[in-house]
Amino acid sequence: MTQPNNHHSDFSPAPDDKTLGNKILGNESFADATPVIAQYLEIKSRHQQCLLMFRMGDFYELFFDDAVTASGVLNIVLTKRGKYNDRDIPMCGVPVHNFMIYTQKLVSMGYAVAVCEQLESPLDAKKRGAKSVVKRDVVRILTAGTLTEDNLLTPKDSNYIVSYHTINDKISVIKYDMSTGYNAYSILDNADDVVDYIMRTLPAEILYTDHKDGDFLKQHIQNIPITYHDIIPDTGMDITNYTQHIPQNMLDYTAPALLLLLSYIHKTQKDNPFLFLPSVYEYHHDFLQIDASTLNNLEIVKNYDGNRQYSLLWVLDNMTTAMASRLLYEYITRPVTSIDILNMRYDAVDFFVKYANIADIIRQNFKNLPDISRIIGRIAAGRGVPADLGHLRHGLDIIYHALSQCHFENYADMPPLLKTAYQKLCHDFESYALLSDALMDNPPQTLKYGGFIRHGYDAVLDEYVNLRDNAQNIILSLENKYRQHTDISSLKIKHNNIIGYHIDVPSSQGDKILNGTFGNITFIHKQTLANNMRFTSDELMTVEKKIFESETLFNVRESELFQKICGVIQTEILPLSHLCDGIAIFDLYASHAVLVSDYDYVRPVISPHKSFSVQKLRHCVIEKIFKSQSQPPFIPNNCHFLSHHKQKHTEILLLTGPNMGGKSTYLRQNALAIIMAQAGFFVPASSYHAGIFDKVFSRVGASDNLSRGQSTFMMEMSEMSMILKNATPHSFVILDEVGRGTSTHDGLAIAFSVTEYLLSHIRCLTIFATHYHEMTELTKSRKSISHLQVAISHIQDKIIFLHKILEGAAKKSYGIHVAKLAGMPVAVIKTAQDFLQKLDKKNLAPQDISDTLFSNLFNPDDNISSDNHDINNNAPRPVVAPNILPEYIQNICDILNQTDMNTTTPINALQILNDLKERAKSI
Ligand code: ATP
Repeated sequence: MTQPNNHHSDFSPAPDDKTLGNKILGNESFADATPVIAQYLEIKSRHQQCLLMFRMGDFYELFFDDAVTASGVLNIVLTKRGKYNDRDIPMCGVPVHNFMIYTQKLVSMGYAVAVCEQLESPLDAKKRGAKSVVKRDVVRILTAGTLTEDNLLTPKDSNYIVSYHTINDKISVIKYDMSTGYNAYSILDNADDVVDYIMRTLPAEILYTDHKDGDFLKQHIQNIPITYHDIIPDTGMDITNYTQHIPQNMLDYTAPALLLLLSYIHKTQKDNPFLFLPSVYEYHHDFLQIDASTLNNLEIVKNYDGNRQYSLLWVLDNMTTAMASRLLYEYITRPVTSIDILNMRYDAVDFFVKYANIADIIRQNFKNLPDISRIIGRIAAGRGVPADLGHLRHGLDIIYHALSQCHFENYADMPPLLKTAYQKLCHDFESYALLSDALMDNPPQTLKYGGFIRHGYDAVLDEYVNLRDNAQNIILSLENKYRQHTDISSLKIKHNNIIGYHIDVPSSQGDKILNGTFGNITFIHKQTLANNMRFTSDELMTVEKKIFESETLFNVRESELFQKICGVIQTEILPLSHLCDGIAIFDLYASHAVLVSDYDYVRPVISPHKSFSVQKLRHCVIEKIFKSQSQPPFIPNNCHFLSHHKQKHTEILLLTGPNMGGKSTYLRQNALAIIMAQAGFFVPASSYHAGIFDKVFSRVGASDNLSRGQSTFMMEMSEMSMILKNATPHSFVILDEVGRGTSTHDGLAIAFSVTEYLLSHIRCLTIFATHYHEMTELTKSRKSISHLQVAISHIQDKIIFLHKILEGAAKKSYGIHVAKLAGMPVAVIKTAQDFLQKLDKKNLAPQDISDTLFSNLFNPDDNISSDNHDINNNAPRPVVAPNILPEYIQNICDILNQTDMNTTTPINALQILNDLKERAKSI
């Protein structure tokens, strides 16, 4: 039925939908069904794509196919209830009080759960006729992307639903977190961007309406529910309320995705309200682009196992509030490209580094803050509970208390970013005064239990409370009064569930009441039992009615007051959401400042020029692990693309060295430093000077595409080809052993030609780690390539990894040493050593290979091919690099060739020289 195993579900039936099992049609008469089952079938026919949770007293029950599915998923007993069309009706159920636990499981597996409630009491139903069925209908459809309950959500993760639509070759995407109301839209250029966007956003659910979009998503996205929704019936929907913050020129692009999103929300929320904050536009190119495989390879938000632990986020997330953790996620997955924004962020970190005591006060207070963003999300959606009000008040208490301790007004050097956030925190909320006046301590989780409004806040409520709480006293005083009037000392006022309050006297005293007169009191006979006689009176009946009514009236009045308070909060939703932004900003920078001090991070210096120069850089994740395990400290390393003393401008750093030397770590730490710096964070180094990068690419390690039928080498090549197609001169690329997945000669040829292409066509900054030592010979003469090696030390026949990166090229890989370290059988190691010796004797020296390559470099007729090896000869057949001069050299040659020395004046010659010099500067 609803949810295929691959997490792709269609909310509205697609025309070719084959997943529905025993479909229940809307036009069936259900003649064979009992009234309740007929009601069920009618409701189910309107919610075919959902698991229907049908409320029956204290249980939610599922029938037919839904019962079979749910009992399997939830591991609960499948039973049966009556028959339909002569067949048993499968049934299973979950108790109301555990409903959310079960629902969470279903929703997290991608099912849509329709919650069907009883809309009246059985008593009210009976009033319409003895056989009337209690009115029921679906009040809400729960899906992974439309949750607002704290216990169904992960505090540190946003719960986005992404709506996706292609229009005129552009792709419009909107991400919306219903639990907080936050939403942002982007226009993407191509399908690759969509996959990257989704992998960065990690939404809980993706919506599409065009089947082509759906097919694409299903092919590329796994483990995220992808939901079809048909907006055609809703095209008349007015979306103007939601588009005020979307510029007119963007509307054409965003409107379809927005309409799709809103119509889905209306459908799942059954037209109940929901919070939708002013839309934010995320201009794609304002952000450092991190493609999906780089995000995975660098373990930015998750490690290879899919957990947060040991990721970059794990290191950076020392936040005290969930609001700041969610903001951190946004920062780290969307680093920026504006120097101004970055400097503002660095200033904010610096402020808290300088005033560590203030950072401490903020964090000490904020660690007790509730998730106000989600509280206001629930209150705006009419789904708040009294406890939410209590938490909101408590949250505001904490903020005002923290501000009063910090005295920010005395800090004239507070940077603009924090000043803006501070103003958001200082807002005077009418709802705060109201909550302080009206609310008792620790209000309950549900309205049902009541008793959360403070005594003295509302006279009417107080009267009901009085009546309810004094009921016992009122009854006692009435009892006393009747004893005096009747002179029966054994008279009692009792209560039972059948006849309610009554006056009880021993039978021997009954006549006294039956025959007596007692002023204006009239006793009415109710029952005569063996030993007792029971009476009531007008007064007792009035008191009884009042007592019962007071309970109901109390609940109604308290609900009214609750709604009134929620109403006031709803008028302040926008400043409250700004308050949450302020909390997140303060927490994020104060917490980061603590990390900066604890781990000695440095403020990046960003320039508009293409450059990268970092001193004593560490890998922040490994550093943290080492520290936590009391291991020796991580060895820092430098990375310079501008080599001043050699007067050359490096574009590619070619890194060679032994296995286990620390090459991959070095590559990653540099890429991570860029992401941290451009996210606005300090970096684990002693200095960081760099330009702004537009994209970071990595070709390191294998990722999970194997399951999609690509071989390791194919994946490596696909990733490499994607990098070569998309990198620009302002990108940063790390390449780890490109070409290793095939034969040595093929691999070397690929590694070499990739290097050539990067130099001549792209000219981005690249660190390339390789075990092809021939590469260092091949590229020795290239001005824009510098060589780095990993240092090792020998003690007898043992090698010690120093993890130090030095200038120059390494000669060996020490693979067999590492195999020995890994505990390979001695015999295997011995054979390998002998074999290596023989190979070394027989093989061509690297220089020979490089000569062969260069001798063929400009031969356009040959092609690189894996078939070109003469294995018996052990000599590579000609391997050819592209017959091209780098573009910038070609340009210089052109200028010189066009210069006629006979006609060039001295001033012209100087101009030409100047021009050449300018060009040389950028090489
Ligand atoms: P291979 O070529 O076999 O893939 P490699 O040269 O890429 O190896 P890494 O995987 O980067 O080596 O590092 C090997 C080990 O050395 C890792 O366990 C890592 O934690 C440790 N290491 C790397 N760099 C450092 C460093 N700078 N300081 C301390 N330990 C380090």
